[in-house]
Amino acid sequence: MKVLVTGGLGYIGSHTCVALLEAGHTVVIVDNLSNSKIDTLNKVMQITKKNIPFYKVDVTDVLAVNSIFSKHDLDAVIHFAGFKAVGESVEKPIEYYHNNVVSTLIIAEACRKYNVHRFVFSSSATVYGDNKVPFVETMDLLPTTNPYGETKAINERILIDIAKANPAISLSILRYFNPAGAHKSGLIGESPVGIPNNIMPYISQVANGKLEKLRVFGNDYNTVDGTGVRDYIHVIDLAAGHVAALENLNEGIHIYNLGTGQGVSVLELVKAFEDANNIKIPIEIVERRPGDLASCYADVSKAKQELGWEAKYDIVAMCHDSWNFEKNRF
Ligand code: NAD
Ligand code: UDP
Repeated sequence: MKVLVTGGLGYIGSHTCVALLEAGHTVVIVDNLSNSKIDTLNKVMQITKKNIPFYKVDVTDVLAVNSIFSKHDLDAVIHFAGFKAVGESVEKPIEYYHNNVVSTLIIAEACRKYNVHRFVFSSSATVYGDNKVPFVETMDLLPTTNPYGETKAINERILIDIAKANPAISLSILRYFNPAGAHKSGLIGESPVGIPNNIMPYISQVANGKLEKLRVFGNDYNTVDGTGVRDYIHVIDLAAGHVAALENLNEGIHIYNLGTGQGVSVLELVKAFEDANNIKIPIEIVERRPGDLASCYADVSKAKQELGWEAKYDIVAMCHDSWNFEKNRF
């Protein structure tokens, strides 16, 4: 298939482009480089030894988007482009709703105009709110605690309404849990700008001495050791999940959790990182971070049954590969 990948130079998008190309598909990447670097395109081409058409375009620009659709005979779109920093979304709700929701409408409209019926959308476990774990796809969506989460829930509703209105559409909504790790080559991975919010890049920067210690946000949750539990999933597994979703996509609306189904606490993650890389990570227990859940992990049976996909890599592999990327970066 020929797949338009929006946000294809970002963390998950770049790994997914590699996986698509390695599975024999072709990709066209569009990214405005607001949270990525053009060098990632060279790295993806270096890994796959393929040439990739790239457009530095903002996907909220309707004319530019239509022009890309008119130039390529696309079979499918995977829509990753969007802003993703939870804290920033609280400070800049207009920018978040504009970028994340308008982009989806514009891409969906171009799909209608150019008869592209396969659509894969990047959603997030955040749409489950504080439902009871493990999260199952059939659960009602609960309010999220920030505009970022709301944009994901709104986009899901918009796309579901669009798919209901046109039975020819094949829609796959993928709810990611916590992506971690990097490509085995160490060439691509997660490179957040400034001080990372997410724990894995934060730990990596403690490991390389850029940051002094990890602040553990609370040790009084009702979890195995009192620290927050998350379902970390290797970005390579996540990328493979997109290929599986695309290759198994039929008409109608399909929603899948992409996680491992395993909850890992902050202290377990720190220990796994120390064991995998033989580096001590100093920690300090501090107050809970507002808005954090105690536990968040997936029921992954639906993706396994319907897509024949399941995660292969464990937390130690994620810690090893995250550090392998981070240490190559400097
Ligand atoms: P990322 O920031 O690394 O990648 C997003 C890419 O989209 C970036 O390269 C950015 O430059 C581009 N982009 C943003 N707005 C754009 C626009 N208007 N036009 C063109 N390009 C634009 O993020 P990621 O971690 O790869 O996440 C990809 C998607 O998955 C996002 O939609 C995100 O919300 C979702 N998601 C991420 C996580 C996570 O923890 N990383 C979890 C759940 C869902
Ligand atoms: N966390 C932490 N210190 C940090 C960053 C995160 O203790 O500097 C914890 C956080 O409270 C949560 C887990 O690590 O329990 C994962 O947080 P992250 O921000 O990576 O993902 P999300 O909150 O989106 O699940």
